[in-house]
Amino acid sequence: KIAPVADELGRLFEAKGHELAVVGGPVRDLLLGRIGNDLDLTTDARPEKVLEIVKDWADAVWTIGIDFGTVGLRKGSQQIEITTYRSESYDPRSRKPEVMYGDTLEADLERRDFAVNAMAVRLPSHEFVDPYGGLADLGAKVLRTPGPPERSFDDDPLRMLRAARFASQLRFTVHPATLAAMSAMADRIDIVSAERVRDELDKLLSGADPREGLRLLVDTGLAARVLPELPKLRLEIDEHHRHKDVYEHTLTVLDQAIAQEEDGPDRVLRWAAIMHDVGKPRTRRHEQGGRVSFHHHEVVGAQMTKKRLAELKFPKDFVTDVSRLVELHLRFHGYGTGEWTDSAVRRYVRDAGHLLDRLHKLTRADCTTRNKRKAAALARTYDHLEERIARLADEEELAKIRPELDGNEIQQVLGV
Ligand code: ATP
Ligand code: MG
Repeated sequence: KIAPVADELGRLFEAKGHELAVVGGPVRDLLLGRIGNDLDLTTDARPEKVLEIVKDWADAVWTIGIDFGTVGLRKGSQQIEITTYRSESYDPRSRKPEVMYGDTLEADLERRDFAVNAMAVRLPSHEFVDPYGGLADLGAKVLRTPGPPERSFDDDPLRMLRAARFASQLRFTVHPATLAAMSAMADRIDIVSAERVRDELDKLLSGADPREGLRLLVDTGLAARVLPELPKLRLEIDEHHRHKDVYEHTLTVLDQAIAQEEDGPDRVLRWAAIMHDVGKPRTRRHEQGGRVSFHHHEVVGAQMTKKRLAELKFPKDFVTDVSRLVELHLRFHGYGTGEWTDSAVRRYVRDAGHLLDRLHKLTRADCTTRNKRKAAALARTYDHLEERIARLADEEELAKIRPELDGNEIQQVLGV
């Protein structure tokens, strides 16, 4: 099931005396029956040589990654990336990880993150190369580094986050030795750039089982470094001083939010779900100092959310959207107690803006508590609010089409 264009390219490289192979993600996904669109290839040819070989064949070529050994191209509708073999590890004396090219496919596979990502299919022969038992791991659904995990994570600590990311995306477990190394070396994640951390966290959260991915991060101590607000929710006590694990509640809200998604992962909604209560622990400390009342924890939470997501270098609009949802998610509790005026309902709609639909979902997801009757009552209250929002919207529509004429003018127009 390898794309015909890949074979074509394989013959092209062969004719020039070079090797070419499909590698990593696409091989794994092909064997899993997952549909991926990436076609990642690897070769012994140096990037300049790759450019020379493909330039007349490809419909478009990108050289943006050429310093890291990657040439991107498009043939028809197929996107392809060709990366030159790398050697097993970085030069330990250099602080910047410089790219060191390698000469064999086997050595290139050795420096990859997990055995399931360290399989290749040579082109055009379709010879399957699997030196680290990736196929067996795939069958067992387990993530394990090709070599000793400590050395692998020492070479690149980002791989620890990638383990949690793939656990979420693929629903795989982490091999015990690999997991132990993650716990032992969690602090090393600090040397990784915010952008790389962000991309892995975002993929983890958009995956099939973000709950499991997050659990791995929290249990290994990685979350304490990259998303400290989350583990701090553990064993918090709720506003009525009953024991309630805000962390478990947060994961439940995430599940409930995901259950309401209509077309695919909604990143804004998912991030809002995991951040929605982060202000709680902080606010109680303030409350003890007699300053901030508990009912403002969403304001503190929104600030904390903004700060965290900005530090992770998320785009500005994304940060604004997620923190706004956190800020608004509790406002409807005022609706249950007092009667909101029409203008209060309108303000709610206006403040939510384009996030209204997500605000409905987040709020409904948050209407879960161990007390079933309380949960049902909350849901009924929100039904009521949503109905009123719909009614007001209808009235506004009517007002818009109502002619701006007074009675006399209407009589004149109609001739009555
Ligand atoms: P997807 O593209 O679906 O997110 P992928 O497996 O292709 O999954 P990428 O991040 O695109 O993941 O990486 C491509 C391949 O490069 C991986 O399969 C892996 O073999 C290798 N790789 C990527 N990042 C690392 C890393 N930090 N350390 C070692 N190998 C890596
Ligand atoms: Mg990929």
